[in-house]
Amino acid sequence: MTYKTHNVFGLAELLTVLINYPQNSLGVATVLAGLIANAIGSILPDIDQASNKLWSLVPGGNWTGNWLRKIFISHRSVSHSILGTYIAYKIIYWVIPNLFNNNFINVNVVIFSLMIGYVSHILIDGITEEGVPLLWPIPWKLGFPPFKSWRIKTGHWFEKWVVFPLIVLYIGWIIYGDWGLLWRIL
Ligand SMILES: [Zn+2]
Repeated sequence: MTYKTHNVFGLAELLTVLINYPQNSLGVATVLAGLIANAIGSILPDIDQASNKLWSLVPGGNWTGNWLRKIFISHRSVSHSILGTYIAYKIIYWVIPNLFNNNFINVNVVIFSLMIGYVSHILIDGITEEGVPLLWPIPWKLGFPPFKSWRIKTGHWFEKWVVFPLIVLYIGWIIYGDWGLLWRIL
C-alpha cells in the first residue's frame, strides 16, 4: 500500500474506534498530538523499508533506512507481525511519555492513536499480493482473501481509484454522521 492509503486508513480506524467508544473532552493539544501520532503509526511498520518517507525527512535518513533494512532483513518482516507490534508498543510506551508533558497532553491517548495507526497498517497490507508475516519468525505471509491472485497490487489503479476513494468516503461519512460525537472530544 502507498503512504497515502495507509494514512487515510489509519485515520478511518481511529474514527471508527472513537465513534464506538465516545470520549469526553480531551483538549485540542491531545487531539492534535493524537492525529499526528496516528499518521506516524500508520506508516511506522515500513520502518524496514529504505525508501520510507519517515527516513527521507531526516538528514542522513536514507543511510539510516538502509542500515535498518539490513537489520530487519527484508521489507515486511518482523515489523509487520504480532511480535513486532508488541515490541513497537513496548518502545512507544517508553518513548511517548518522555516526549510529552502529561499535564498538557494525555499521553495514553497519543500512544493509543499511534498503535491504532500501526495495527491498521498491517491490516491493510494484508489485502495486498505480498501479504504479511503475521506470525514472524514463522515465514508464512498471510493475507486476505487467502488466494494471492485475488489480492491487490500496491500502487495499482485499484488501490488509487477504488480503495483510496472508498476509505476517504468512509471518513466523510463518519464525520458527517457523527459530527456531534467527534466535536465533543475537542
Ligand atoms: Zn507495510
